[in-house]
Amino acid sequence: MALHLYNTASRQKEEFVPRDPANVGMYVCGPTVYDTAHIGNARPVIIFDVLARLLRLQYGDAHVNYVRNITDVEDKIIAAAEANGESIEALTTRTTKAYHEDMAEMGALPPNREPKATEHIVGMVEMIGVLMEKGHAYEAEGHVLFDVTSMADYGKLSGRNRDDMIAGARVEIAPYKKDPADFVLWKPSADDIPGWDSPWGRGRPGWHIECSVMSRAELGDTFDIHGGGRDLIFPHHENEVAQSCCANGDGTFARYWVHNGFLTVEGDKMSKSLGNFRTVRELLAEAPGEALRLNMLSAHYRQPLDWTSDGVKQSKTNLDKLYTSLQSLSDVEADESQVAKSVLDALEDDINTPKALAALYALSSAANKETNLVERSKIKGKLLSGGNLLGLLQQDPKEWFQGAEEGDVTADQIEALILERVEAKTNKNYARSDEIRDSLKDQGIVLEDSPQGTTWKRV
Ligand code: AMP
Ligand code: ZN
Repeated sequence: MALHLYNTASRQKEEFVPRDPANVGMYVCGPTVYDTAHIGNARPVIIFDVLARLLRLQYGDAHVNYVRNITDVEDKIIAAAEANGESIEALTTRTTKAYHEDMAEMGALPPNREPKATEHIVGMVEMIGVLMEKGHAYEAEGHVLFDVTSMADYGKLSGRNRDDMIAGARVEIAPYKKDPADFVLWKPSADDIPGWDSPWGRGRPGWHIECSVMSRAELGDTFDIHGGGRDLIFPHHENEVAQSCCANGDGTFARYWVHNGFLTVEGDKMSKSLGNFRTVRELLAEAPGEALRLNMLSAHYRQPLDWTSDGVKQSKTNLDKLYTSLQSLSDVEADESQVAKSVLDALEDDINTPKALAALYALSSAANKETNLVERSKIKGKLLSGGNLLGLLQQDPKEWFQGAEEGDVTADQIEALILERVEAKTNKNYARSDEIRDSLKDQGIVLEDSPQGTTWKRV
């Protein structure tokens, strides 16, 4: 089966055919770096990481250019820096670093390129100039605005008519706009906030022009896939299309638009006022990143996903089962020629991760039953390659079960206690040997005795 993706632009699932048969370009809107990432922010990161892994398998690592930007100039950043009493640079550096750490903990590989908006201001000024020259933009009170009436197709991506756009209150009403749906390309900056010189005075770009310029700089006028959360379809992506098509030529820009659905927490929309904002950092203190990742992949990306602590627990249990199977296969080497076709087929069907996980569980059950060594080696190869496509089973099973978190009893301490227990048993001091077993159990360490000796794992 060839890769099929649901394209928001055509509102149907389409076969993915890259512009250049040998190379794929993908742009995903990255974070605005003003705060620590919440679990909703991780959803596009993990989904597009799975898509990038799939594309790299199909086209080769060197033939996939996955670009995810950093929005490091935006009004939310200015407001947050002021509220924190922190410089803008300190804030954006700190939150970008935390974002990288959190996403890596959830098993997301870095994109190939990560442009920052502040590195592309010259390109933005240039594109805005072209839009003005071509009659798609106008200057008013130090602002430059995109004239939506200059583009016949405006609203096509989101399928909104003009009344919906305005009624949705997602457009800022301002007296200097010719039309309420016109949006800002450039705005003036007071002396104490970030600004760059431009033909329209010292100012800063609007958010939408940043992505039009960064995607063009990295991937050209036309590229294959553009992704992000579905909240970005309007106005952000609609406006990116308007800017890029009007500046670069009709019919240019992204060919496949892929949008992930929203994540709720315990049935509610995440919001600061409800106090149910869950940061990735907090969640990582409760469960390993791979378990959070599996939980994220348990719903299809276009569906809503309700994040619950029961779901995370279940995901951890499911991952433990997968690692148990992998550990039981330690008697064989993985046959690396094996591709998990069932996992691959599921992902090629519009990134169907629940189906891909079911395929991994089926491989795990097969591993538990299979006794033939050649077959076991094949299953191990498939479990690992399928896991790799999903960014799961990335650790050695021993490390998974025995890996310590901060404050946990260490492997050395456990091994020493196991030796002491053997000695106690030899001396028929069963009270002490039971005490050691029970005290380890209280700390989440389970001992398993066998004729070959005692092994242990964290549960
Ligand atoms: P932001 O930093 O707010 O621009 O968001 C970064 C990315 O996270 C965008 O692609 C958003 O669509 C996505 N996003 C934000 N909140 C959620 C959520 N609750 N569920 C899924 N995606 C989200
Ligand atoms: Zn964007």
